[in-house]
Amino acid sequence: LHNQVQELKGNIRVFCRVRPTLAVDDQEPAKIGFPDAEADSKEVAIQGPEQTSAMGRTTTSTNSFSFDRVFGPSSQNGEIFEEISQLVQSALDGYNVCIFCYGQTGSGKTHTMSSADGMIPLAVKQIYDTARGLEEKGWKYTMEGSFVEVYNENLNDLLGNASEFDKKKHEIRHDVEKNKTTITGVQTVMLDSPERLQSMLERSSKNRIVAATNANQRSSRSHSVFILRLIGNNSITGEHSEGTLNLVDLAGSERLSHSQAEGQRLKETQNINKSLSCLGDVIGALGQGKDGAHVPYRNSKLTYLLQLSLGGNSKTLMFVMISPLQAHLSETLTSLKFATKVHNT
Ligand code: ADP
Ligand code: MG
Repeated sequence: LHNQVQELKGNIRVFCRVRPTLAVDDQEPAKIGFPDAEADSKEVAIQGPEQTSAMGRTTTSTNSFSFDRVFGPSSQNGEIFEEISQLVQSALDGYNVCIFCYGQTGSGKTHTMSSADGMIPLAVKQIYDTARGLEEKGWKYTMEGSFVEVYNENLNDLLGNASEFDKKKHEIRHDVEKNKTTITGVQTVMLDSPERLQSMLERSSKNRIVAATNANQRSSRSHSVFILRLIGNNSITGEHSEGTLNLVDLAGSERLSHSQAEGQRLKETQNINKSLSCLGDVIGALGQGKDGAHVPYRNSKLTYLLQLSLGGNSKTLMFVMISPLQAHLSETLTSLKFATKVHNT
């Protein structure tokens, strides 16, 4: 039934999360209005910069945005997970699901998605528990995990060897009939215990550290995609199901001025801008919902990788993460506008 409920609301949902001000921030908070205590808030209001008129009067404008949910700075990962748990679960029913974290660097994407109590471990744990509960109904599931990054339009295996990053070519192949995407040369791990997940996450973060250089905060300049494939067989009914859960920590959406971006940095920035706008275009084209309409998956590596999990009867959720600082106001407004476009498709 919950799948039906989600269908009525449309297949793309957008949640906004405001990160708290941190002790290290030491900067003026922006004036962000959100009914924090309220259980089910959907609005976020941001006061724009002050403008002084010729007569010396100062005015500010307020920009309001509404999403499917807005989580204030005191929200915890656990309560956020509750709001996505049904969506996560639908991968066990054979749906393909994509969950994205979008926002500028420092806005809380990795905290939400990949930290020790983030959506990745919480989702895997919930899937374990649910799958175990389904055993008495005859279901037996296998879970395969892979973890890749897209950096400069090149795909790397975060579970592979960091010395091969940016050199080894991995090919993406879609089998539409089987609803299955394979990536050549990428490791998949049988996630048959929580320890397996733990060592998988450790391996990927170690690889990212090895691959990073001083000058290059690689992890915020690449998209990381955690791919969980769930294959279920029912020994009583003979049913079979295959679903995929993709958890995506997107590259920082901030715009760098041309003076800041030179050489490698400029190339990264161009690739990030291209792939994020392409993601918006793909979601937009899908939202139009016209059968046979052209969807530009091939315009970026990320959308091509996720092709089978974005179209068809798949389900998509985007977190737009925002910083609470006045210094980030203009990026915050840009992020909220992007997310509004996604929400309105
Ligand atoms: P991003 O991945 O978007 O660059 P991070 O997730 O790394 O941002 O967050 C930046 C900093 O803020 C990190 O130190 C992180 O631990 C902290 N942080 C982000 N969100 C929260 C939160 N909800 N509660 C506490 N600390 C947070
Ligand atoms: Mg990050």
